[in-house]
Order: sequence, then C-alpha cells, then structure tokens
Amino acid sequence: MTCTTTPPDLEPGADSRRDPAGEPGFATRAVRTGHRRTGEGEHGEPIFTTSSFVFESAAQAAARFSGDSPGNIYSRFTNPTVRAFEERLASLEGGEACVATASGMAAILAVCMGLLQSGDHIVASRSLFGSTTMLFNKYLSRFGIATSYCTLSELAAWDAAIRPQTRLLFCETPSNPLTEMVDLRALAELARRRNCLLAVDNCFCTPALQRPLELGADLVIHSATKYLDGQGRCVGGAVVGDRKRVGEEVYGVLRTAGPTLSPFNAWVFLKGLETLELRMEAHSRGAARLADWLAVQPGVERVYYPGRPEHPQHHLVGAQQRGGGGIVAFDVRGARPGAWGLIDATRLLSITANLGDTKSTITHPASTTHGRLSPQERAASGIGEGLVRVAVGLESMADIEADLARGLALVPVA
Ligand SMILES: *Cc1c(COP(=O)(O)O)cnc(C)c1O
Repeated sequence: MTCTTTPPDLEPGADSRRDPAGEPGFATRAVRTGHRRTGEGEHGEPIFTTSSFVFESAAQAAARFSGDSPGNIYSRFTNPTVRAFEERLASLEGGEACVATASGMAAILAVCMGLLQSGDHIVASRSLFGSTTMLFNKYLSRFGIATSYCTLSELAAWDAAIRPQTRLLFCETPSNPLTEMVDLRALAELARRRNCLLAVDNCFCTPALQRPLELGADLVIHSATKYLDGQGRCVGGAVVGDRKRVGEEVYGVLRTAGPTLSPFNAWVFLKGLETLELRMEAHSRGAARLADWLAVQPGVERVYYPGRPEHPQHHLVGAQQRGGGGIVAFDVRGARPGAWGLIDATRLLSITANLGDTKSTITHPASTTHGRLSPQERAASGIGEGLVRVAVGLESMADIEADLARGLALVPVA
C-alpha cells in the first residue's frame, strides 16, 4: 500500500472489506493506492506527459542506467502515472506486481513472450476472445508454441489436454458470450499438480467481483479497455502476478519490445478504478434484472446468465465471483432473422461489440465476434444463429427493457 494520506479513519463504504492484517478495504485502495503526491500538493493524480527524465549529474545517469540506483529514465521503462495505475490494480487484484500494457492483447502477448519458449504448449478454453485464439493459432505457432483447446467448465478435459510440454493454462471466466464458468480453485489446483502456470483473463469480472490470484491462479490479465476504463474511452491492458514472473520477466518484454501504456490512458484507467466497485455492482444488478425479465419473454428461448438458477455453474456465483457480472446472452426465437430484427428495432442500445461501457451494447455473436468460426465450430461452442449478447450499461433498466420489448414484439413466438 503506497498512499500519501492516512485513510484508516475513513468511513468504510457499505462493501469495503478490511482484511484481518489491517490493510485498508478494497474501496479505499481503489481510491487512494498508488498516488505519491509531488511537492505541488496536488489532490488529483497528475499526468506525467514526458518521454524522458532528467538526471542531476552524469554519475546519477550512469547509476540509473546500470540499475544501481532506482528511478525513472524513459517512459517506455517507467512513468509515474503508469506506475500509479499499476500499483493500484496490483493492490486490488492482490498481486505483488503489475505491468500495464498498450492493450489487452499486448498483455497476453507479453505473458507468452516473457514466460514461454519454443517447444512449450498451452492449454486454453475453447471459448476465448477471438484475437486471443488468433494470437495463439496464427502467431505463437510460428515460434514453436502449440495450443490445445478444451471445454472451459470440464476439469477432466483440461487434465486430458495437458502434455509434458504444457507450461500455461489460459482461460476467461465467465466466457464470452455464453457466460460459462470454470471452478478456478479446482483449475488452479490442477495447474499446480501438473506443474503449469494458470493465467486468467479477468476482463468480465474485474477484481471488484473476482480475484483469481486469491483462488490460486498465477497470473491475471486485463483488457483495461473494458470495465477498468468503464466509459469506453481508451485502449489498454495489464498483467498482475508475482514479482519474479510479472515484475521481472513480463516487465522485461514490455521494456524491451515496447507495447507500453501511455500516461494519459493510465490516468483514465486510474480514475476508472476509483468507481470500479460501484459500477460493477450496478452493472451486475442491472444484468440480473434484465436476465430475469428476458426469462419470461415469449420471444426468448433461453437466457445465459450466471445469476440465474438454471445456469449450469450457478453454484460458483458467491463461491468465486461476487454477483453475476454485466453480460447477459439469450437465444431469440426465429434464428438469425429473429435476432437481427430485435437488434435493428433497438433505438437506445448501441449496436457494437464493445463492452464494459456505461452505455449498454447489443451484438449478434454468430455474425460478428464469432463470425470467423465455421458453422460447425459455432454449433460446437453453443453459439446459435438466434443468440444475442447484451453488455448492460448504467442506464435506467426500464428503458433498456422497453427498447428490447419493441424488437421482441416482432419475433415469431409460435
Ligand atoms: C477486449 C478483450 C481482450 C483484448 O483487449 P484489447 O484491449 O482490445 O486488446 C482480451 N480479452 C477479453 C476477454 C476481451 O474482452
């Protein structure tokens, strides 16, 4: 915890968790951690828009470059605003070290470059963000790193896919768009037993709802572009984990190869973290209400939401993630024409594949985010032609429901 003021006497928020060691609660760290006040006495965190840093003497420059003396040299290596974001996110995820990156994909690439080598093997869940699958299949394969895929929730399938060369297990939970989940404690246990690292892309839950490191994962990956920003402004990412793997090995890739986060984007994410818990609770509340409403609409065949009792991994809500998160998917009757008709009838929801924004978004996965899969692959993944995904924003839910009701009225119900 690095913080220039003394927060312990702050009124804890309704959900501030204070750990027994006396560390300030989550909400306090989200607001306070990482800012070292400069001599100007500023209250808000400053943006250090500087590419390089000045030394007091030639000797100091030499000591910085040799590593004998800590301190800033160049913003590809370190920047105070970026560091403030890294310290705050590390604290919220419960990790020793955090490295910020230019995008979520840069975070995944840096993990692979920092921790894997030619001949290594990855086991990943089949339901992954499309660019992650592309990175593994098209690019890492060229450098001698192979990937196998298995069904996210089936621990036996993970176990069976592990080979002697397997070094990394990689998953997203809940998955996109069907919100499938894996028991992270059990998967972390398996990774340990089989001598692999477990990396969790925690984009959908954020540390406000789920902390994979506390459940035994080795690495947490973020697309900060989504909920950490929370208002759809900037692209960025981060990796959180231990001092050696993340603080040295992943950091070394960033510092050398250069997909570092800009100070301006770091500042936007730093401010985003201050309201993260409030926003995630509101997104979850809205999504839970929408899922219940959708479940009783005649035009809807099936709802996919972790908070619904019929969800196959419903038992993991509460056990490993607080609340169901902000993403709801559902099958509309009438296949693609039904789904497209519903989407085109909306006037409030934004037709875009992004998520984690204050604005609710609506997508047809089969023809957009998952459009590159063959029809057979889509069917195997459960992504039907009638499937629609809504990333619930922070508008009044009655307005979202009214917007969807208009389109659902057009769907043939017989
Ligand atoms: C968006 C996203 C990414 C990639 O992040 P970028 O910031 O777009 O590079 C990775 N994983 C998940 C789950 C995402 O939603």
